[in-house]
Amino acid sequence: MTVRGWAWLTLIVLCAALAVAVAVLVPWHRPPAPRADQLAALAELPADRVAKARELRGELRWITYPAMLIGLAAALVLGLTPLGSWLVGLVPGPWIAKVLGGGLLVLLVADLITLPFAAWRHTVAVRYGLSTQGWGGWAVDLLKGYAVAAVLGAIALLGFYTLTRFLPNWWWAVGAVGAAVLVVLLSFVFPVLVEPVFNKFTPMADGPLRSELMDLAQRDGVPVRDVLVADASRRTTALNAYVSGIGPTRRIVVYDTLLREAPQSEVVAVAAHELGHAKRGDVVIGTVIGALGAAIFVVGLYLLGAWSWLLHRAGVESIAEPRAIGLLLAVATVGGLLAGPAQAYVSRLIEARADEHALELTGDPAGFEQMQGRLSLVNLGDPDPPAWEQALFGSHPTTVERMAAARAFARSR
Ligand SMILES: [Zn+2]
Repeated sequence: MTVRGWAWLTLIVLCAALAVAVAVLVPWHRPPAPRADQLAALAELPADRVAKARELRGELRWITYPAMLIGLAAALVLGLTPLGSWLVGLVPGPWIAKVLGGGLLVLLVADLITLPFAAWRHTVAVRYGLSTQGWGGWAVDLLKGYAVAAVLGAIALLGFYTLTRFLPNWWWAVGAVGAAVLVVLLSFVFPVLVEPVFNKFTPMADGPLRSELMDLAQRDGVPVRDVLVADASRRTTALNAYVSGIGPTRRIVVYDTLLREAPQSEVVAVAAHELGHAKRGDVVIGTVIGALGAAIFVVGLYLLGAWSWLLHRAGVESIAEPRAIGLLLAVATVGGLLAGPAQAYVSRLIEARADEHALELTGDPAGFEQMQGRLSLVNLGDPDPPAWEQALFGSHPTTVERMAAARAFARSR
């Protein structure tokens, strides 16, 4: 069998593994959330806040989607015209310099093009009282984000070009394993190394709330190392909580804004949802699916590299040369956009299960529903967004769906 034959076989096996992983790990059964309950819940939310949220979301649509399209167009121009290879060619020196300098240059151009949209988005968030940041803090966050992306990008590109250089025929095989390992590693390392770049975390102070949360975790049988409070109020008024890390790095993080705004019963409801993620190993599920996706991407890249039309458009001889960085960006951007709706769909199912877990654990559907209403109103999210938007981009069930699920749960007991 030729090397390409092996690559095709590997791609098929990986896709089958992904299909099996998705079929087995994703909770396909979704708890009921009848539309009639959704509409009843919507009618009980304060109409002026709902109207304001819809106004904001309508405005943001004019920023988010054009930015997405322009980002895609920029990636395509960098990848499917000789512009990208010309940019990388500007960098002098040995291949390592070309990879790092060229990669940075290509990413910088792609980022600069969407920068005005990010700034516009910030002015809207400030105008609606959603962001508490001035331009200084906003810019610092932006630079930190670029720095994190640059470090991750440099690691990925250096790894990629080292492999293609020393294993010209088999780089895809080692690269697929490397990409999968990188995803797993990031999942461990992210909460410890990257999150502190943006927020300060302090262990929640002793008191009735901490005791109740630790109690809740104990009752749930979930090993939680700590409950941390993030100083999110530095940048936002939004309320949130999440769980991240695997095994020894796993922790529950609660925004300080949530502690300030919400009564104890609602903080407990949020924590119970997060415990649901921990108990069902949702971080592991995401990591497994992400690792398989990354491996598929690398093998797919190798196979795409045989498509001479693509190489010709990019003005390169091989996808494995540093001047093809723009082409890599284009393929990654298109792949990300195509995978997005599927990822969102899986995410919604996993979130619905965590909601169900929270309801069962606390036995307090009223507190859960109140919490959902508060989250949506304070975060100025549309509680009942258009179906197309939810289908394409919704990472969680809509607020009215989550409230309706609580009502259905209350009836079923
Ligand atoms: Zn969740």
